[in-house]
Amino acid sequence: MASATSGDHLVPLADWLTLYQGLLLVAGPCSVESRQQLLVTARQLAATGKVSLLRAGVWKPRSRPGQFEGRGTEALPWLQEIKKETGLPVAVEAARPSHAELCLQHGVDVIWLGARTTVNPFMVQEIANAIKGTGLPVMIKNPVCPDLRLWMGAIERIMLAGSQKIVAIHRGFQTHEKKIYRNIPLWDIPMALKNKMPQLPVICDPSHIAGDVQWIRELAEKSLAMKMNGLMIETHYRPEEALTDPLQQMTPAAYHDLVNRLSDNVATHADTPDRLENLRNQIDDCDCHLLELLACRLSLSKQAGKVKKQQGAEILQPRRKHDLFHDRQAKAKALGLCPTFVNDFMTLLHEESVSVQSEDAAKDKNP
Ligand code: PEP
Ligand code: MN
Repeated sequence: MASATSGDHLVPLADWLTLYQGLLLVAGPCSVESRQQLLVTARQLAATGKVSLLRAGVWKPRSRPGQFEGRGTEALPWLQEIKKETGLPVAVEAARPSHAELCLQHGVDVIWLGARTTVNPFMVQEIANAIKGTGLPVMIKNPVCPDLRLWMGAIERIMLAGSQKIVAIHRGFQTHEKKIYRNIPLWDIPMALKNKMPQLPVICDPSHIAGDVQWIRELAEKSLAMKMNGLMIETHYRPEEALTDPLQQMTPAAYHDLVNRLSDNVATHADTPDRLENLRNQIDDCDCHLLELLACRLSLSKQAGKVKKQQGAEILQPRRKHDLFHDRQAKAKALGLCPTFVNDFMTLLHEESVSVQSEDAAKDKNP
């Protein structure tokens, strides 16, 4: 017997939304800024003929106060208008019970819980209570922290409220380090969710993982290669003027190009063995992490160079170099790494550190 929270009662995606090559394609602006911005963006998106669901943030959860927090309730009639005109169903983020109630009153088809809401079981439960018995479809983003149980808990609370149309959204996880992507993907977590709830559709939001349009394609392809069920892509008719997330929003034309070209790659990936694909994804994550660590390492060297200069110390200090190589070799040995490789790698890294410090010293002399 399927339990109420196993996911076995969920309505298959294709029964309630239009899919493209089996994929749920959610697109739309990060936030509604004006009636005109919403209408123009949504019309251009509708014209692509490749959108399952129009997303639009009406209430924006901002990390710091004093920023654009969305147009709020006044934007809901604009969504009704565009829904009537284009026939596209619409989705809005609900961050508290009153948002969910207003969405229900204004014919919003789907609500989603954002990463800053999923992290809080009290708030998730209050929203679940507000929609109980309505059957309102809900998409649930992963929490900001990498906690699978918290994500599953939010999904279970919504299931227990009687919703049978549920989608999970992978949007990556926050860290404070300087990194290539805005959020670290930690692909293992959405994969574990798929294993635990095989009937639950899981889609990827590469816009929020990337934080910059230049990485969206590779992340979208990777997620589909991992058999995710669709994408959520932030789109704006003039991304450079966007009031929220300007770097990661793409034009509807760029979106069209992205989804058209994805279809070819989805077919290619289907022939690649899952296990190899999985391992390659983990290798990509590792390399990304290595590059981030290298950037951190060299920035520390740069700062050390400034301190040496203040103290009138030499850049190259043989004693320190000797100790550093000795220590890294001992640690590398414990990890089973080849000593020659580690020596070559440390030599390159040390040379680069010295060169970064020397460049800085030269700049200070001849600014
Ligand atoms: C959003 O989708 O615009 C949003 C705020 O996302 P997240 O909850 O993933 O940060
Ligand atoms: Mn956003």
